[in-house]
Amino acid sequence: MRDNLWAQRFGMLKGPKRSEANLQKNICKYLKMQYPRIRFKSGMEGERLAGGANQGGRLRAIQYGPGHPDLVIYHQRDIHCGLALELKKETPFKKDGSLKAGQHLVEQNEWLLYLKQNGWRAEFCWSFDDAKLIIDSFLKR
Ligand SMILES: [Mg+2]
Repeated sequence: MRDNLWAQRFGMLKGPKRSEANLQKNICKYLKMQYPRIRFKSGMEGERLAGGANQGGRLRAIQYGPGHPDLVIYHQRDIHCGLALELKKETPFKKDGSLKAGQHLVEQNEWLLYLKQNGWRAEFCWSFDDAKLIIDSFLKR
């Protein structure tokens, strides 16, 4: 089971998570290469929580709840105390700018709003180029 999760995370299996997993992996590679001194946390909690195994139950017990951003960068910049990104394989927004349907999206959006209200920069992100732009504008000076 664990091997499957890792294989999926690193894009070795085909599946619905594949492109988001690759996005996350590539962004983390970029961060480590370009900003080796910047500390970050990149999680797989979403997949584990969805897995429903014992591990999922233990994780649920010690976490606030679902929707935590995929990537959290611990670095203060200007008015922001850090940068949090929720990665998606496609845009979570409709053409009119409102959020697409889905409880999980609502929960993720609530996390981002909460972080913004508490001094973070927090964004949805669905391509490597967008992530790179946001990260570079946040970290480069
Ligand atoms: Mg995600």
